[in-house]
Parts: sequence; structure tokens; C-alpha cells
Amino acid sequence: MKILKVLVVNCGSSSVKYTLLEMVSEKKVAWGIVECIGLSEAYYKRQSVNTDEKKDYMKIANHREAIELVIKNLFDEKVGSIVDNSEIAVVGHRVAHGGVKFSKSVLVTEKVKEDLKEYFAIAPLHNPANYAGVLAIEKVLPGVPSVLVFDTAFHQTMPDYAYMYAIPYEYYEKDHVRRYGFHGTSHNYVSQRAATILNESLNKLKLITVHLGNGSSVAAIEKGKVVDTSMGFTPLQGVIMGTRCGDIDPAIIPYILSFYPQQYKNSSDALNTLMNKKSGLLGISGLSADMRIIIKAIKSGNKRAKLAFEMLCYSVKKYISAYYGVLNGIDGLIFTAGIGENSPFVREKICANLHALGIEVDSEKNNLESSEERLISSSNSKVKVIVIPTNEELMIARESKICLDGV
Ligand code: ADP
Repeated sequence: MKILKVLVVNCGSSSVKYTLLEMVSEKKVAWGIVECIGLSEAYYKRQSVNTDEKKDYMKIANHREAIELVIKNLFDEKVGSIVDNSEIAVVGHRVAHGGVKFSKSVLVTEKVKEDLKEYFAIAPLHNPANYAGVLAIEKVLPGVPSVLVFDTAFHQTMPDYAYMYAIPYEYYEKDHVRRYGFHGTSHNYVSQRAATILNESLNKLKLITVHLGNGSSVAAIEKGKVVDTSMGFTPLQGVIMGTRCGDIDPAIIPYILSFYPQQYKNSSDALNTLMNKKSGLLGISGLSADMRIIIKAIKSGNKRAKLAFEMLCYSVKKYISAYYGVLNGIDGLIFTAGIGENSPFVREKICANLHALGIEVDSEKNNLESSEERLISSSNSKVKVIVIPTNEELMIARESKICLDGV
């Protein structure tokens, strides 16, 4: 019997990640990544329920070639997981930026593709890659519908006073400069899981979700709707991240430019690289953007690693405290993504001395190693603190299916 599947595709600036899932059971069938597209060290790593992990270095010039490679592998007679196009009910594409036009997932049409192009300038690294992914899928899987699932969509419920920037209004009206927020799929998924874990309707809950990975963001969620989030017009704003500076005084940038005009030559690219790729944990520690390396270095007495760690945790604590006020109290505080799920050290530091907000972490529960969803707050804690592994692929698959069925 033919089991219908959903293919989830995530095209980054130089990578393509994919997961093939069965529709009803939601089981993962095959998954993999093409990395370093266009570079000499490009490789393709893949695995399936029936095959072990395999990694090959090869020439992969662009996203189209990467997708062709993936589809060829998925249809391979010996190691593939699909026999016929009709087995794939829908392809769900993760899209970085949906601007103001896309407040929910959409089925791809010619009009949708045109609209998507409007946001190339806002997300120059990601949206063109997402678009290339859509075109490539159309070519290699003709007749299979595609759905776009936007990282920004879940945040579209923010009120205007939360998403506006206090710069002249014309930049909002003419150029769409406003807060959009990112990691929406993850915040959406963990908030839904939190409601299930707390055995309460999402409509009755006030939650703060903390997504801490290489990129990090915090969201304030009331009745299942985002009321504020820390990332802004781009993913640069908000808490300190692996290589991103998060919130800084914007006046620092023209000041740096005035001291190093030669180095930056008024180039926004060089300044963007400074703030997006050379700052955060990496910039402060001078060592690494990887939290595991930072924690190891702290244990061997590295002072700058300690400072970077403390700055990151402090910035998250400030957002939690601010959103606690915005929501007038919360029921749950959720930690997710690479750092949020795996680092008791970070969670403990962030939650220390938040008793005034009714947030108390149980040290033993927090230190328990697990990849499961788990409560880590103490029995005295008014707020439930929960670790929930995120599952953006599953969320994209569900959204794609819902979108397809709704048409
Ligand atoms: P991305 O934003 O790229 O999806 P992830 O969600 O995978 O990133 O998170 C990557 C981050 O998670 C890295 O900083 C990594 O060091 C951190 N991380 C993963 N495992 C651990 C761990 N056991 N302890 C501390 N940090 C961890």
C-alpha cells in the first residue's frame, strides 16, 4: 500500500536540509543535509530508517543541483525511500521572511512566487535560497504541490506598538521597516506542546518561549498568540547569540565607521558581517560561537569565555523579566533548541534569582540528562519551567498538510 509522505525542505544561504515524513504516523523516513554549496568542501550527508549515515564530498554548484541530488537519492532503487512522485503529497518549504504579506502558510502559486521575490531585499541571504528551492522542486517533482511555511508568520499577531520602531513613520509605510520576529515555527511548536504538557488549553495560557541555539530568540505568547518577540526586522536584534551581537546602541555603528573608514569603506556588507558573524559569544570570548566550547573554557578558567556566557544569560534574563511584565505574569517558561535543551548550566544561570517572578528551578531535575520533554521547576515554583525539544520539521510538515487540505 502506498503511504503518503511530506517532504520538508529548508534551504539556507549555502545549505539544503530535508526530512521526509510519513503523513499520518508522522514518522521520519529519510533525512539529510547538503552543506557548503558552491564551495570546494561541499558535501552531501544522508540517512534513512533503512540505511546508515553516508557522507560524500562532491561538487555542488547551487541549490538546484543540491535539490536534484536529494531527489535522486530519495528515488534511488537501492537506498531510496520513494518509488513514485505520487507518494509525496506535498513539499513544505521553510521560508525565512514572509514580510507583511504572509501571516500564515500558503500553497505556492505563480502570484505567491512573485510576492516572495518582494522580500529578497529584507532577507538577502535566505529568501533567494528559499525561492531557488521552490523552483528546483517544481522542476524535479512536477505536479507535486509546494507550501511555504514562514519563520515570521507566527509573530504576525503582535500589536503595532510592539512591532513599530520609533524612526520616522515613512520607513514603515514605504519600506516595511518594522519588527517581524523569527523562529516562529519553533515558538509555535513548543507553545502547543507546553499546553499539552500542562494539560491546559493554549487559550488559557501565558507563556514565555526561549529558543536558544546558534541564533536565539524569546517570545511572549498569550492565548496562543505572540504579543512580542526579541528578534526584529532581521534576526540580529534581541538576545546575545553565537555570532550575533543582539541589542546594541545603533549609534555604535556610525561611530565605528568614523574610526575605521578604510576597513569598512561605507560598506553595509562589512558592517553586517561584523554584527552577524563576528560578535556574540565569538566576539566577546575571541574563542568560539559554540556554547559547549565556551562552557569548557570557563571550567579551565578562561575569563573572556565566562564574560561571554554571563552576558548571554543576562540578556535572556532581561527579556524574560520584560515579557513577564508585558504578560502580567506567566504560567510557563519554555526552553528549547541546542542550548536551551542541552545546557543545564545556561538554564540555571538564566533562572537564578528570579524568585520574585515565581520562577524556581529544581537543580536535580535541571541537571538530569535527557532528550525528552521535561519539567525542571521546583514544586514551589509558581511558574512551570519546561524543557521541550523543538521539532520544526514536524511543524512544517503539519502546517503543509493543513494548508493543502484547506484548499
Ligand atoms: P541552530 O540555531 O544552528 O539550529 P542549534 O539549535 O543546533 O543551532 O544550537 C546550537 C548551539 O547549541 C551551539 O551553541 C551548541 O554549542 C549548543 N549546544 C548543543 N549541545 C549542547 C550542550 N550539551 N551543552 C551546551 N550547549 C550545547
